[in-house]
Amino acid sequence: MVLHAEVVVVGAGMFGAAAAKYLARSGADVLVIGPGQPPRDGAPASLAAFGAHHDEARIVRRLGWDRVWGTLDTRSADRMRALEAESGIGFLTECGALALMGKGVRDRTAEMLRLSGAAGVGVEELSGTALGREFPDLALPPVAGGVDGLLERHGAGYLNPRLLVQAQLRLASAAGARLLTGQVAAVRKDLSPHGRWLLRGTTADGVAVRARAERVLVAAGALVGQSGALPVGSRLDLHAYTEPNLLFEVAAGERERLRALPTVVVVDPEDRGNDNLSVYLLPPVRYPDGKWYVRLGPGMQPLVRELRTAEETLAWCTGGTITAEQARFLTAMMRTLIPALEPVSVRPACCVVDKTPTRHPYIGPLGPLGPGGHDGHDGLFVAVGGNGHGARGSDEIGRLAATLVLGGEWDFPLPREVFEPVAAPLPRTSGADRPAYLTPPFGLC
Ligand SMILES: Cc1cc2nc3c(=O)[nH]c(=O)nc-3n(C[C@H](O)[C@H](O)[C@H](O)COP(=O)(O)OP(=O)(O)OC[C@H]3O[C@@H](n4cnc5c(N)ncnc54)[C@H](O)[C@@H]3O)c2cc1C
Repeated sequence: MVLHAEVVVVGAGMFGAAAAKYLARSGADVLVIGPGQPPRDGAPASLAAFGAHHDEARIVRRLGWDRVWGTLDTRSADRMRALEAESGIGFLTECGALALMGKGVRDRTAEMLRLSGAAGVGVEELSGTALGREFPDLALPPVAGGVDGLLERHGAGYLNPRLLVQAQLRLASAAGARLLTGQVAAVRKDLSPHGRWLLRGTTADGVAVRARAERVLVAAGALVGQSGALPVGSRLDLHAYTEPNLLFEVAAGERERLRALPTVVVVDPEDRGNDNLSVYLLPPVRYPDGKWYVRLGPGMQPLVRELRTAEETLAWCTGGTITAEQARFLTAMMRTLIPALEPVSVRPACCVVDKTPTRHPYIGPLGPLGPGGHDGHDGLFVAVGGNGHGARGSDEIGRLAATLVLGGEWDFPLPREVFEPVAAPLPRTSGADRPAYLTPPFGLC
């Protein structure tokens, strides 16, 4: 099968689906290539089939760690209800979002409040007593010096990422985008004058596919460097990490009570290795097995490991089990935050997050990357690097990517250089150059 398109989007995940919608709405002839959703809770069959959107809940809030994230998240969140109405697919649950900020980052907290206030985002500061009154099931974590509670009540809570991707793809299709269920195995440029981009891959049924395009947007997620979505020799400075989660099944009797909880993120600034208390927690969410689970995940403590090779990554994604150290930490944190919870059962989830040294997504043209550099990358763009919290800002990230691919006017309040993709440096050899994202505070998941 040979296909032609003005723009091929590689990856139909959170960023790719949003970008495809905006590209198609701008009149571009768009082909999106990405694997379909795996069977619910099923392990991915290949690295290209891994998607961070294959789950039921991702935290939504407008309050941002910095102005970049705050703006991405606010612009996206402001459009979510309209997106639901246009697509006919509901995905947002407004239960509120609570950030428990260690007092040690008081300056950061004050700046976050200043920025959200300036953007018109309603965030309440709640004392420990007020939090105890409003959320009697929630205990405050013993972060040194205590925590400040920042509660966003409206338009915040969690979204269903599978359904948001479905909604974006439905709207992309309605605007004329073509969707191909399959995966890309190789991307290269025909270097003859006016040469096109050539993509090689397979459909879900194993049929070989070739596609030719004027421009390519690679939105292949955390495993972009491992899944065949970049031209040979191109390496982004983007790192994949294990993201162990535990799902605590909630008994029917407790469910209604606990559903009053907001989403919670704890920011512990103390650099105490695995004793750092940074975590995120989702209130009971219904999973495809019909059961309700409270879900808990870590910050970037040392128990979170980097996935450096394709073999390691596949073993993690398909293994179905987290380490004993990770399970101990997550269980202890659950007991700390919801002491009264008596889970009916507990099960692990093996996810992957990506991190960039800028701590922001990469959105833009892929320059001459790789050792020694090489050219011929005109027309190749990326939208990757959600840094573990890209779901809530994905609509704006996709819009910005589409703007750049089509050469449109940059209308984001911060310069486009903020999102400039960074080429990979030589591989790290020791812990001496520990990247900032592995040092607390880890930010707002
Ligand atoms: C456990 C966990 C919890 C998280 N919690 C939050 C949260 O609370 N709030 C929040 O905002 N964000 C959260 N995130 C982050 C968020 O889910 C990601 O930032 C977001 O999904 C990134 O979107 P993406 O498009 O870059 O990647 P993805 O959504 O993973 O999409 C990438 C797509 O590309 C496809 N692909 C890869 N290679 C190829 C190829 N070669 N050919 C074709 N297709 C390919 C994949 O199959 C996938 O569908 C969380 C992530 C994880 C893992």
